[in-house]
Amino acid sequence: MKDDTKLCHMARPHDGLSMVNPSVERGSTVLFADYESFVARNRQRYYGRHGTDTHTALKEAVADLEGGEAVTLTSSGLSAVNLAFLAFAEPGTDILVTDTTYDPVRSFCDGFLKPRGVSIRYYDPLIGGGIEDLIRPETVLIHTESPGSLTFEIQDLPAIRAAAGDIPISIDNTWGAGYFYKPLNLGASISIQSATKYMGGHSDVFLGTICSKDATIGQKIARTATLLGNATSPDDAYAVLRGLRTLPTRLREHETQGLALAEWLEQRPEVATVLHPGLPSHPQHDLWKRDFTGASGLFSVILQPQSEAFTAALINNLKLYGLGYSWGGFESLCLPAWPERSRSATDWNAQGQLLRFHVGLEAIEDLTGDLANAFERASSVA
Ligand SMILES: *Cc1c(COP(=O)(O)O)cnc(C)c1O
Repeated sequence: MKDDTKLCHMARPHDGLSMVNPSVERGSTVLFADYESFVARNRQRYYGRHGTDTHTALKEAVADLEGGEAVTLTSSGLSAVNLAFLAFAEPGTDILVTDTTYDPVRSFCDGFLKPRGVSIRYYDPLIGGGIEDLIRPETVLIHTESPGSLTFEIQDLPAIRAAAGDIPISIDNTWGAGYFYKPLNLGASISIQSATKYMGGHSDVFLGTICSKDATIGQKIARTATLLGNATSPDDAYAVLRGLRTLPTRLREHETQGLALAEWLEQRPEVATVLHPGLPSHPQHDLWKRDFTGASGLFSVILQPQSEAFTAALINNLKLYGLGYSWGGFESLCLPAWPERSRSATDWNAQGQLLRFHVGLEAIEDLTGDLANAFERASSVA
């Protein structure tokens, strides 16, 4: 079955006259029938913190979409990445992290793991098989993200896998959303998503998913979640499951809109470079074509060198693009970012300001019209 069909039919109750979607099961206390079932060793469930039927339905859906064995849900995308790290990190161990990792992950590595005796080394996202030279006996995890946050480098995951032997590889798969990219089939051991983004799809929920290719790693991560007291709301799990039903349709629209806006921006004199893996001008376009089946609606541009007043006027004159963090909802966003502030293994030398766009589901003519107007106003200010 294709993903589109699966996502419509998965996690549906099959017990006679039931609703299309599983209902929200809330609860902390699980009541046991008797003493014997309370002391039994093989209790299926015993406390709401470990999840309710709503969580189980979502976990099954995510495992099916990502092509993995086991899923752990966490309170946010950031907590999902951090929890995966904690499952492997011990004093004296070493973790290789892509230099283009989501910046709060870098803060966790530098501000939490390093002070506790874990070695963190950042690597060039274009390293591919060259990662072999960085691997040490104490390396326990390689963390990738493709495309990279803010700057959209595509990683050669199969080459990294071939060089990494049996070291687990985790990947932040939020951009491909498990639909356009299947990293567990390309060598990753763990695929992590911020379901806050496309899976939820409506900018109204926080949730993270960790999907493991094999059950052993899945158990290690689930155990870490239990030790840390991780719990998520069944209402949020329900909202994400509902979002999954329309994920393919939304993503295809984000793809069409994103490519259209990226091509339009590439023609603008105010723009120096468009960083969108789906454009032939992107340096890793061929890798993207090999490993991805589509592009979502998030990309960046580098403006021609201009004054800060120009950037400010451009952003302040946008009426349809919100200025705010996160992405993956139905609405368009545009924010300025400074990649050089969150890199250590590679240099970022672009002269102009970087702007990151999330293209929503508004009509493309309105989106280009709004930008054309803002560019014009910014030029008259600067
Ligand atoms: C937003 C984001 C996260 C963090 O997700 P939250 O749910 O906001 O914690 C992690 N990775 C990437 C690539 C993101 O864009």
